[in-house]
Amino acid sequence: MSKFSIALHGGAGTILKQSMTADKEKAYKEALEKALLAGYTILEKKGSAVDAVEKTVMLLEDSPLFNAGKGSVFTAEGKHEMDASIMEGRTLNAGAISMVKNIKNPVSLARLVMEKSDHVFLAGEGAAIFAKSMKCEFREDAYFYDEFRYQQWQDIKNTGKTQLDHSVTKDEKFGTVGAVALDVHGNVAAATSTGGMTNKSFGRVGDSPMIGAGNYANNNTCAVSCTGSGEFFIRGVVAYDVSCLMEYKNFILQQACDEVIHHRLKKIGGDGGLIAVDSQGNLTFSFNTEGMYRACWGSESDKIVAIYK
Ligand code: ASP
Repeated sequence: MSKFSIALHGGAGTILKQSMTADKEKAYKEALEKALLAGYTILEKKGSAVDAVEKTVMLLEDSPLFNAGKGSVFTAEGKHEMDASIMEGRTLNAGAISMVKNIKNPVSLARLVMEKSDHVFLAGEGAAIFAKSMKCEFREDAYFYDEFRYQQWQDIKNTGKTQLDHSVTKDEKFGTVGAVALDVHGNVAAATSTGGMTNKSFGRVGDSPMIGAGNYANNNTCAVSCTGSGEFFIRGVVAYDVSCLMEYKNFILQQACDEVIHHRLKKIGGDGGLIAVDSQGNLTFSFNTEGMYRACWGSESDKIVAIYK
């Protein structure tokens, strides 16, 4: 059997063991493991990497523990506006959506943009019209509501400040989600989905839906999904930079990820992390924060589900 592997994340940030209860830790680990198993099972049955990353991210979107789909953070207007993207390493096909409201699974809408439209990126009203034409599942605002995130927004509402999940020191839920995979056919894929940042202004777009910034896949190198302070990930073109270091400088995966996260991103003031898989199935996590909700598993590697550094 050929190799396959998968990794996922549920966000990086100030995640400290001392501020986590045993019950909460258990809930997070169970949610990560459930999503991991779904993706792993698809790959084990010789399914495609793109199916595996979509399904994995859908399950994370369906969990209110993470800032994506159900449980997305509140915007300055008290709404939920979501961003997502997906990319296939074999063809370099990609799909992305931004500023969408009430879509149950933004990652699936991104995949429909990739496969059923002539475009790569649809935003706002146009993305909503496309979603309706594709008969996507919509949900009422109440579905996305999470009490904890509502309180997060109340704390900074009308201050003019925005808040990244990552930059706070108190006990927080973090949560952009993503997955990367290599399938038995030798193809890699990456998917990323987020509610963005609390109190974000109308029209703000982060790195998660931007191909090359928060998400990238190329069979020649790797697949990458990021989480962190989006503005810095955009400026650092982080996901593509990892791929470039491998393609043009022959870095191995771990080296490329660490160079980007611990040096290049740090240098411009960005914090966060990423997950990546290369075309040989090697899996990597790299983050410059206290923790990152993460998990991985492969045909030739053990299952890991972890939160702290
Ligand atoms: N990168 C996301 C954004 O800036 C936030 C996150 O990773 O939690 O929208």
